[in-house]
Parts: sequence; C-alpha cells; structure tokens
Amino acid sequence: MDSCLGVEQDLDKAISKFNFISERTDHVLQDMIDQVEHLRRELAEDGIDESLSHEWASMVKDLITAIKQLALKMSTDHRELHATVSRVGKSIDRHFIADYASVAPKAESFCSDTNRPIMEQAIAQHLYRQGLEEVGDTLVAEAGIPGVERTCTFAALQRCAAALCEGDPSAALAWAARRAADLQHSDLPFTLHRMQALNLARTEGVGAAIEYARRQFPAHAARHERQLQAAVCALAWCTPAAPPAPPHYHHLLSPRALGAEAAELFIREACALLQLAPLSPLAGAVLAGGRVLPALHDIRNKMTHPHVIAAWSDDELPLEVDLGEDGGGYHSVFACPILRQQASEQNPPMRLLCGHVISRDALNKLAMGVKLKCPYCPMEQSPSEARQIYFS
Ligand SMILES: [Zn+2]
Repeated sequence: MDSCLGVEQDLDKAISKFNFISERTDHVLQDMIDQVEHLRRELAEDGIDESLSHEWASMVKDLITAIKQLALKMSTDHRELHATVSRVGKSIDRHFIADYASVAPKAESFCSDTNRPIMEQAIAQHLYRQGLEEVGDTLVAEAGIPGVERTCTFAALQRCAAALCEGDPSAALAWAARRAADLQHSDLPFTLHRMQALNLARTEGVGAAIEYARRQFPAHAARHERQLQAAVCALAWCTPAAPPAPPHYHHLLSPRALGAEAAELFIREACALLQLAPLSPLAGAVLAGGRVLPALHDIRNKMTHPHVIAAWSDDELPLEVDLGEDGGGYHSVFACPILRQQASEQNPPMRLLCGHVISRDALNKLAMGVKLKCPYCPMEQSPSEARQIYFS
C-alpha cells in the first residue's frame, strides 16, 4: 500500500505539472496567433501588396524573433515534462519489486510436461466457474485441454449474481424459490424480494410494488421489521414527480448498490448451502500467493546465511500469513499449539469435536481415559471423536 502511495505522489506531481504547462502553452499560443492576426490586419488595411517599407519590415522581423523565442521556451517546457513523466516510471521500479524469481526458484516447474496441463486445466476451470464459457471454450480448443467440466454449478450461481449486479433479481429469486426450505433462516429471500419490489416501483409503478410487497413481505415481517419499514417508506420516492430522496434512502433507491449487496449475499449463502468454495482453486491460490509474496521476498533476502537456507525445506513456507476473511484457511504445515512441535506423519494434526486442532501426541497426553477437555474452549468430549487432518 505504501508503494502505491509513493507512486501516486510522483504521479500527482507529473499530472499537476502537465496541467500547468498545458494551460500556459494554450495561453501563449493564443497570444502568438492574436499578434500575427493583428499584424496581418494592419498590413491589409495599409494596402501594401508587394514591397514592405523599412518600418513594416522591422515590425515583422521583431514579431518573428519574439515567436521563435516563445517556441523555444515551449519546447524546453515540453522536454522538462518528459523528464517528469519518466520519473513516474522510475518511481514504479523503485517502489515495486519487479523480479520475484528468487522467491520462487521452482517457478519454471509450472511449464514442465506434468504440471503445464494441470495449470491449463485450472485456468479453464476458473473461466467456466466465472461464467466465461466463450473464453473458456476458446482456451480449451486452442490449447487442446482435455477433461474440463464445462457446466458447473458455480457458473450458474455466478450468472445469477451478475444479473443481480445489473439490477435484475429474477434469476436469483427463482433459485431461492427452489431452495426455500433451506433458506428459512437466511436474509437472502427478503433481500431479493425487497429488490424486486423496488424494481417494480420504478418500472410498473408504486401500485404494482405495493401489490408485490403485500404478497411477499408478510413472511419476513417478524425477522426484518425495520428493513421492511424502510423499504416501504422508500416507495414514497419512487413516483415520477417525487422530490429528491433524503440521503439515507439513496442506497435503497439505487438498483446497482442494492444489486451489488444482494449479489455478495447470494454468492455467500449459495456457496454455504451447496458447500462450494467461494473462490476457484486458481483464484484461491493467486489470492494466497499475492498476500504471501512480499513477506516471502523480505525473508528470502534476510535468509542468505547457508545454515538458514538449509533449514528451509523447499515445499513449505517459513512464515505464517494472515489471509484475511476471504482468504480461507491455507496451511502448508501444522505446528501443534500445545507441544509447539511441527506435526509429522507419526504425530499428525487431529481436529477435536469443537473444531480446535492439536497434534495426536498432545491429544494422548491430555486425554483422561474416555474423557478429553479441549485446552481452548474447554468442551468435554471423547478422544475417539477427534479426526485426523490431511494436508494435500
Ligand atoms: Zn475446543
């Protein structure tokens, strides 16, 4: 982020200089044109056609000299501007790391005969998941990628979400209607019906919206009382002659804002319901990789000592990275929080019934016969209920 701000500062400098020079150049050019025009008019009025008097000749000569000087000044300004612009390029080089090769010494393995097809499949799968069938088809045909499933559930969800972003909730409503029983405790149905009611108010009039609200809203009245009141009040600003709405209704009255919010909720709820990951494997890997790269680059620079290098095995990360809310959980290694040891095949990580994870040795040490008290939450459970976790 600091890097972006640094470049932005240099960019702002270049832009303000550009605007200043552009304004001044326009002014100077106009001034020159006016002077030339003025002299030409005077010459015409004087009725001179062939030879100029000495006085006129010196006036023309003076003007030419003045214009030449101004033109020279303008070209100097232009050269300076060029230097400022190229400074932005240098600033980008200075603030960002261009070469990550040292961090991923095995990056070329993406191109090996075994890995390239996997990479290509992941890209095609990602495209289909995002609902970009045409792009995916072209890639599959041109690269000759075998065995990529073209129709996937996520692509259908993605199309519903895209329609929502465009302000059209009908596809998402149809999906939610088919899943009504599963969505009983979800905010999604109300969010979609509210969007549809406000859409109707705009397209078919407030009467149609009220009619729709009467049919759909009662089922959600108990859970969403305040939001429901706000939605009904928002209808008052949907008539053609209505004055501008107060600021806190702007969100409800903007189909795109409402659509973007509904689309996010839709993807989240649908993925949870269908047990789908909200990110494709490729998107997940890119997100996790992007987060980890700067830290990895720093540590790689510091770890030049031979002993340190030797301690870092090639297929694991020597640091923990917080991937934030959308990053999901990615682990390449597991260290037991109780024994403070890295898990191994002999001592694998075990997931307790409550969701906390400790190593098997720690589990055996903590277990008292058929009872085990979780060291974190302290839920009582049986050690036999713990399940081994596999990292792949
Ligand atoms: Zn626990």
